[in-house]
Amino acid sequence: KADLRSTLLEINKIAAQYFYVQLKSEQGKAACTYLKKRKLSDDMVKAFGIGYSNKYSNDLFRYLRNKGYSEELIRQAGLINTDEKNGVYDKFWNRVMFPIMDVNSRVIGFGGRVMGDGKPKYLNSPETAVFDKSRNLYGLNRARTSRKSCFLLCEGYMDVIALHQAGFTNAVASLGTALTAGHALLIKRYVQEVYLTYDSDEAGTKAALRAVLILKEAGIAAKVIRMEPYKDPDEFIKNLGAKEFEKRIENARNGFLFSLEILSKDYDMDSPEGKTAFFREASRRLTAFEDELERNNYIEAVARQYKVSEESLKKLVVKTAIGDG
Ligand code: ATP
Ligand code: MN
Ligand code: MN
Ligand code: MN
Repeated sequence: KADLRSTLLEINKIAAQYFYVQLKSEQGKAACTYLKKRKLSDDMVKAFGIGYSNKYSNDLFRYLRNKGYSEELIRQAGLINTDEKNGVYDKFWNRVMFPIMDVNSRVIGFGGRVMGDGKPKYLNSPETAVFDKSRNLYGLNRARTSRKSCFLLCEGYMDVIALHQAGFTNAVASLGTALTAGHALLIKRYVQEVYLTYDSDEAGTKAALRAVLILKEAGIAAKVIRMEPYKDPDEFIKNLGAKEFEKRIENARNGFLFSLEILSKDYDMDSPEGKTAFFREASRRLTAFEDELERNNYIEAVARQYKVSEESLKKLVVKTAIGDG
């Protein structure tokens, strides 16, 4: 079993090197142009080992076979597919390749992006004996040595790389999946605080709300950075630069208060009934803080922000806590 794992890691490493060489070759020109267009520096291409899977449908397969690896092993590495019509063919085909590394910088899988509007936009390696999506974070191998006391947690490969390029070397991303408890525990080995920099669309907002809860469960303090009017950190940095991003970090919202702000949009805050209903739900959530000092601090913050007397909010929270709300 340990043997299989080390062989798969070996195959992945060779594949990553192969993709990297392809990118630098004549065939990789369009991919290089694409990366230039996305403003990725050569340093970042090198640091993250970005490559290119070319247009021939089984180049990598033949290359690995020539190195002596069996078809079965290459399949278990997640690098080929088979169907009746085409036989064996490379999973990744004409895509920009992002090797996914574990904390020790061993290649455990790949993400491949189309260079244009094709679908799917990203193709990721399947889970294999060495690739567990819920226990690895993209960029962690570099972020862990950033010597910052927090991580910036974002959605995608391009976001992580753009942030590292702009000097935010503590950026990581979950790999095309929602944040899990496993991710939270992994993060907790390195930092106690996370700044969420998810996309500003509805999916990103929903993901941020979930992430706040998952991180809190693991005892990690979460803050939320808003990317508006841009779509994600990559676009934000490209348009406004690192200084402005730094300001967004400074103005990050506390995770709980952010959740309440989103919640308040479901209520008519201009009507007494709407406001009352909102405060009932807010009180219910405030009871989740078991530490009294912490709870009181949140009550104070909520009272101030939503213009209600701290005294009456506190009473409501107490009533809610004893099931009399
Ligand atoms: P780009 O990464 O080129 O800037 P984008 O910002 O529009 O594009 P998103 O759709 O926000 O990309 O995707 C963010 C992340 O989600 C990606 O980096 C990838 O990890 C994952 N992802 C996106 N689409 C897919 C997909 N079709 N299958 C699997 N994972 C995906
Ligand atoms: Mn997105
Ligand atoms: Mn995005
Ligand atoms: Mn993007």
